[in-house]
Amino acid sequence: MLCYMIAGAGVKTHFYWSMKTSNGDPDLLQSRLDNIVRHYQNDHRNCFAGNDQYRGARCRTDPNYLPQRTTLRDPVAIQLTTQWIRDTQIYKNPLDYVHCVDTHYAESFNNSLLQYHDKRIVFGKDQYSMRSYRAVLDWNEHVDREYTSITRRQSATNPRAVEGHKVLKRKGNNFKATIWDTYMDTIFPAVN
Ligand SMILES: [Zn+2]
Repeated sequence: MLCYMIAGAGVKTHFYWSMKTSNGDPDLLQSRLDNIVRHYQNDHRNCFAGNDQYRGARCRTDPNYLPQRTTLRDPVAIQLTTQWIRDTQIYKNPLDYVHCVDTHYAESFNNSLLQYHDKRIVFGKDQYSMRSYRAVLDWNEHVDREYTSITRRQSATNPRAVEGHKVLKRKGNNFKATIWDTYMDTIFPAVN
């Protein structure tokens, strides 16, 4: 049952990272998936070392890294885990998954929209458009802004997962001044 334990708790993240870092290459994706078992055997030679887009896996970048889970030693467990990974749809059809991208920006923009649209209120067209435009301005200004620290918090729905959560810098909201200036310019056009 070791196989199940590993599969349930940690492998999901490995699959996700394997897809993210496969550079559109199905062979690379499969080799990354095969490497999951080696990672749990505490052999990190082929773990993701990082590229210009993503930081490397902690086992490759943190000198103080200690495996969080039991090292996989039992040959039967190794065989079962390997087979479990190779039986997944992602392993069998790597070409279908190499372009898997994360949904961070879609979700981030959706969050921005929700700050301006109360879903319990049916807005008229003008209100709806105005609020949408403001969400766009807000998002354009603040997406990818820097963070001051990262806190670790436990998820209530998945208590075994501890997620890093970025504490973002305060919003500048300069877009409000831009709206104001644009509005004032329509009332008092600049005299040439
Ligand atoms: Zn590793």
